[in-house]
Amino acid sequence: AAKQRKDGAVVYDPEIDQGSQQSLSLLSELRRAIDRDEFRLHVQPKLMLASGKVVGVEALVRWVHPERGFIGPDDFIPFAEKTGFIRTLTRWVLEQSAALCAELNARGLDLKLSVNLSTRDLLDLELPGKFADILMRHQVRSSSFCLEITESSIMDDPVRAQQTLERLHAMGVELSIDDFGTGYSSLAYLKRLPVDELKIDKSFVQNMARDADDRKIVRSTIDLGHNMGLRVVAEGIENVEVWHLLVAMGCEQGQGYFMSRPMPSDQFLDWLQRWQA
Ligand code: C2E
Ligand code: CA
Ligand code: CA
Ligand code: CA
Repeated sequence: AAKQRKDGAVVYDPEIDQGSQQSLSLLSELRRAIDRDEFRLHVQPKLMLASGKVVGVEALVRWVHPERGFIGPDDFIPFAEKTGFIRTLTRWVLEQSAALCAELNARGLDLKLSVNLSTRDLLDLELPGKFADILMRHQVRSSSFCLEITESSIMDDPVRAQQTLERLHAMGVELSIDDFGTGYSSLAYLKRLPVDELKIDKSFVQNMARDADDRKIVRSTIDLGHNMGLRVVAEGIENVEVWHLLVAMGCEQGQGYFMSRPMPSDQFLDWLQRWQA
């Protein structure tokens, strides 16, 4: 790209070129990926910890790129957020989740679908209307959905985020604070927002069988959530010791590799049958 120096001369900067061209092509590839059906909806089961009963799934998106193969969300969600593409992607995830919800309902399964929202989604005043539209087209209830938001995503524009969240909540959708404990001023938001669920970040859960500090943090977070009248969910349960500890601490729900890794949504019913067998 051409760049003007302080002395007025215009110079060529190959670095800028590379960076912005790469971004441009990544953005156009993301746009194409929707048309070419390259995104995949994976789901991870969410369980009642005391009984092992499956109560829902979390939707987690993946990208199967024609040349680069399997790409995890951490490698394209931040970029999708920066460019605004996330709004398109979120609508795709909501659409797919609603279709899955309808399929589960048709089989007599009343499970909750958890969907991740990002900062941009919370600033998107059209989102509640679009979501209502999707629910209507698939004939599914708003109460079958829980939207997961992070503390940092609320921080960007707390006033507008609160507006969006209040509209969604008024529709009957549940709200969850994801990655709880990793952001800033979590407590202030807990007080002000219409939240139903608090999700303890996996960084505190994974090693809690070995780490006494992690155990103290998890225990306090569970108590805090309960005192605020919220349901508490632990993510990142990787072994049975952690599961048992969480039951003893009164944590209601959990998810983790120990029960199941996220799987393609069309494999979920088979998994569920095996789990219940
Ligand atoms: P997250 O919402 O905190 O999701 C939990 C992540 O932890 C997932 O990674 C999941 O596969 C992983 N996980 C679950 N159980 C365990 C466990 O027992 N041990 C360990 N080590 N990890 C576990 P994933 O699928 O790679 O997603 C990463 C992040 O990408 C998500 O974190 C979320 O922030 C974002 N993401 C994924 N899908 C979407 C989406 O559809 N929309 C948006 N906005 N963000 C998404
Ligand atoms: Ca999540
Ligand atoms: Ca998390
Ligand atoms: Ca996360």
